[in-house]
Amino acid sequence: MDAKMFREFGKAAVDFVADYLENIRDHDVLPSVEPGYMLQQMPKQMPESPEDWKHILSDIDRVIKPGITHWQSPNMHAYYPTSVSYPSIVGEMLASGFSVIGFSWICSPACTELEVVVMDWLAKFLKLPAHFLHETEGPGGGVIQGSASEAVLVAVLAAREQAVRRERERQPELSESDIRGKLVAYSSDQSNSCIEKAGVLAAMPIKLLPASEDLVLRGAALKAAIERDVAAGLIPVICVATLGTTGTCAYDDIESLASVCEEHNVWLHVDAAYAGGAFALDECADLRRGLDRVDSLNFNLHKFMLVNFDCAAMWLRDANKVVDSFNVDRIYLKHKYEGCTQIPDFRHWQIPLGRRFRALKVWITFRTLGAEGLRAHVRKHIDLAAQFENLVKGDSRFELVAPRALGLVCFRAKGDNEITSQLLHRLMERKKIYMVKAEHGGRQFLRFAVCGMDPKPADIEFAWTEIETQLTQLNLEADQQPLENRKAGEIAELTQHLTGLQLQMDETLQR
Ligand code: PLP
Repeated sequence: MDAKMFREFGKAAVDFVADYLENIRDHDVLPSVEPGYMLQQMPKQMPESPEDWKHILSDIDRVIKPGITHWQSPNMHAYYPTSVSYPSIVGEMLASGFSVIGFSWICSPACTELEVVVMDWLAKFLKLPAHFLHETEGPGGGVIQGSASEAVLVAVLAAREQAVRRERERQPELSESDIRGKLVAYSSDQSNSCIEKAGVLAAMPIKLLPASEDLVLRGAALKAAIERDVAAGLIPVICVATLGTTGTCAYDDIESLASVCEEHNVWLHVDAAYAGGAFALDECADLRRGLDRVDSLNFNLHKFMLVNFDCAAMWLRDANKVVDSFNVDRIYLKHKYEGCTQIPDFRHWQIPLGRRFRALKVWITFRTLGAEGLRAHVRKHIDLAAQFENLVKGDSRFELVAPRALGLVCFRAKGDNEITSQLLHRLMERKKIYMVKAEHGGRQFLRFAVCGMDPKPADIEFAWTEIETQLTQLNLEADQQPLENRKAGEIAELTQHLTGLQLQMDETLQR
């Protein structure tokens, strides 16, 4: 492919993406394919001769698109949002065009320096403590990781290495392997699976402490666990707290956890993968309480900042602790500006050696939307979730299981778990909207997260009509037997109600 053909293919691809995103409501959010659908359609070997890009693009429409779960559909309500925006897509494309591997400053000064710039912009936008800024004198700063999982793993590994060094000095009679065998970490049973996984990867058990009734982890629970473990000869290393848990978007009590961590010299990391976006809002200032006392935190721009996957911000109060832990050198990695305080070699702040030019899409997105555009985006999600919450509250067949938090509403059909399970099953079969279940205290519930590239109030109405219509249908089918014996008038009344709901749904669809 030469530059001329690339221009044609590239322009056609941009048109394809624009058409796809503009018309995303035309698709059911869940695909209608069975496992192996693609394997049957694909040749068993790569083509021997080059193929025309037009043919390839038409196969994307024919084979790839039918197997896509439409994460950017406003009818996506599962997990948490995965954001995207046109400027961010352009940024990704330009970064691919440069295709640099910016592991050290010399490998592409713009890659490193733009990351320093946007991480400071973002820290100020989120009103984070000044010691997390590169521009503040001191060892703090921010870096872009691929995912929250990587950020958490970096924190866990760095905290572990710091603890080993500290303990070797404190207890020289112990061997390194003795010390490593005694290390222990903490998080809440509500924390994301990636935290437990970080413990597995770091070969250090992470104890998942039971959150209290309101799903919050507080200092008292951590203190009790640490004191128990210290008495048993273990060495507490790190506590990973969450602001915005995956299940219900609950917020751990950072201040009380920080007090315990400070007392026991335990690293405190905050996973704010989703909720971090709300730090920017004055009305959510409470969420930032205690952040001045944490050692590190992460926030996914690919969840709430209109930057597409992958893009996870991480800030460190003292980046030297990470650099010291991970610094492995080779002569071919050296360059003459190494160690200059203004320009970090980000390879020491992360797991891989190579690193993508992610800052470019961040910079383009931030400039195109401005701080006010980003704040408006977060507020829109909050408002749409409030709209959904009111609909749940207005229907006596449903109940909320946790307070609405940002763009997430957790609710269930009243009664036993089976009703909620069956309701979700029906919704999944119909593929119009996509939600996932969660469970707390033996009660199953549905998570309704506001997602998609450009969700609107009509999309929330659409989802609600789908949900409540399906519950009506479910109840009707359950009552089928007695229904047959009922008077014709009752049946007609119910049918009329159903038809009305169907009409409402069609109208919403048309809109
Ligand atoms: N932490 C929280 C609170 C999450 O909700 C998620 C994913 O939704 C993660 C961590 C994992 O994020 P990532 O896929 O970026 O590793």
